[in-house]
Amino acid sequence: MPRVPVVDQQACIGCEVCTQICPQVFRMEEGPEGGHGHEHKSTVYNPTGAPEEKIEEAMDNCPVACIYWSE
Ligand code: SF4
Repeated sequence: MPRVPVVDQQACIGCEVCTQICPQVFRMEEGPEGGHGHEHKSTVYNPTGAPEEKIEEAMDNCPVACIYWSE
């Protein structure tokens, strides 16, 4: 069973770094507040879309370190 990345959307600042490093796994979505069009949060839409090293690169480059592995 591969490890699955999770984004803590409370902490995500919507910088889009992870979606640039790993667009096969992460994408931007409207935040939970929605409707105002200014709050974007990263979400995992395809947890096994990229090799673990690539996902770890996204984790390492996240400025608020809010991507982690869920066992
Ligand atoms: S790199 Fe981190 S802060 Fe930036 S969009 Fe991705 S999860 Fe959010």
